[in-house]
Amino acid sequence: MIKRRRATKIIATLGPSSSTPQVIESLFLAGADLFRLNFSHGTHESHAENINYIRDLSKKHAYPIGIIQDLQGPKLRVGKFQDGSTLLSLGQEFFFDLSDTLGDHTRVTLPHPEIFEAVSPGQALLLNDGCLRVRVMEKTPGRLKTIVEVGGKLSDRKGVNVPDAYLSLSSLTPKDHKDLEFGLNMGVDWVALSFVQRPEDVLEAKDIIAGRAKIASKIEKPQAIDFLQEITAASDALMVARGDLGVELPPEDVPPLQKRIINVCRGQAKPVIVATQMLESMVSAPTPTRAEASDVAHAVYEGVDAVMLSAESASGQFPQEAVSMMSRIVEKVESDPLYLEYRDSERLSVSTSPSSAITAAARQVSHAISAKAIVTLTLSGSTTFRAASERPQSWILALTPKEKVAHQLTLAWGVFPEITKEINSFSQMVETTSEVLTRRLIAKEGDHVVITAGGSFMTHASQELYTTGTTRLLRILIVGERD
Ligand code: PEP
Repeated sequence: MIKRRRATKIIATLGPSSSTPQVIESLFLAGADLFRLNFSHGTHESHAENINYIRDLSKKHAYPIGIIQDLQGPKLRVGKFQDGSTLLSLGQEFFFDLSDTLGDHTRVTLPHPEIFEAVSPGQALLLNDGCLRVRVMEKTPGRLKTIVEVGGKLSDRKGVNVPDAYLSLSSLTPKDHKDLEFGLNMGVDWVALSFVQRPEDVLEAKDIIAGRAKIASKIEKPQAIDFLQEITAASDALMVARGDLGVELPPEDVPPLQKRIINVCRGQAKPVIVATQMLESMVSAPTPTRAEASDVAHAVYEGVDAVMLSAESASGQFPQEAVSMMSRIVEKVESDPLYLEYRDSERLSVSTSPSSAITAAARQVSHAISAKAIVTLTLSGSTTFRAASERPQSWILALTPKEKVAHQLTLAWGVFPEITKEINSFSQMVETTSEVLTRRLIAKEGDHVVITAGGSFMTHASQELYTTGTTRLLRILIVGERD
């Protein structure tokens, strides 16, 4: 029986260091709540294998585990060079064009016409994850003359970032469309969208996904910040993708933005993930730097739903150590009285809908009676996401007959999802709730818990009173009572 008592969730990215059933199980046992499959790498075969391993693991331990498919998105890259690379020196002129000939020390292909349309003289292009910078001096059709401001080696197919311009690119490339169809057929729970710039990017993906998975939009373009509220509203969750965000913006801009993104998500009751370089030095060392430990801790104090490991678990030498380190840091913060004070004083959800009012009341009631848990009965997950956004003192047990919803809820702060059979009456509800709470050692007979339900959970007699996606029921239950 897995007994986890941590509200903030851990996402571990899988990769060459972690793609065997044994390593995946060790990451799960060390504390990973969800696994991220990075579709910038790997093949459909390798991702399918990992998905199957994770589903088997989830069954073996009778514990829901989430799967996030992270789409590559429109990653911009230069073409290839005659010699594989060139050295750009400070102050030299360098040209980018649409020609399909190999590059040399004067020019290289930039096979993205959108960039030529969008940039203007005076704007910067960043190359190789921001290590090199050039500034556009002149623009002629299909050709950019630039001057090198930060030099270095530029090799074949290195990434290009265009921080200053809005690019009229769909956030889904033809590769993403294929990957997405594959992921949805394999039943992934979440899809992470890369390089979202506008809410329309999310809506386009939403149309294709059509409810088959939830959408986490990655905030990594400065342009997305102008539409943060709208992008959050269109998405099911956000990810602070600090890797690319920190290339497109100066590093000092990232921490305040992280805080702002977290607040917007909390205000809209949407889960938020902080990602990238959290324990970066653990790629090659068994312990993190003090600053990295602080970074993870800080995100937890800020009230995020999940913290994420990328290279640390995907290609590093210490994947299991990285997950258990992260888990220990999270647990330490969550037991700090100061954290509890922040949690109880920060109420960031602002909705005034009846569902939110019931959820807020559930939180208050659970505090007043020191309830051991808030139990949410949910079909769509919305009752539970809403309860999580209240950041209550008690654990949230989510009971749902939908396997996919249970897997999706693994991302939500403080939530323990459990797949149950359909519940059709109050007495069944009481019985199931008591059984799960005692089996999972969350509460014992005689303890008080608070129950909230999305109406559609109760079929039959009460059906006309309720609709999916709303929370209408609030009830105090004594574990083990007969109704
Ligand atoms: C990031 O840029 O921080 C990120 C999570 O995206 P990726 O790892 O796909 O570049």
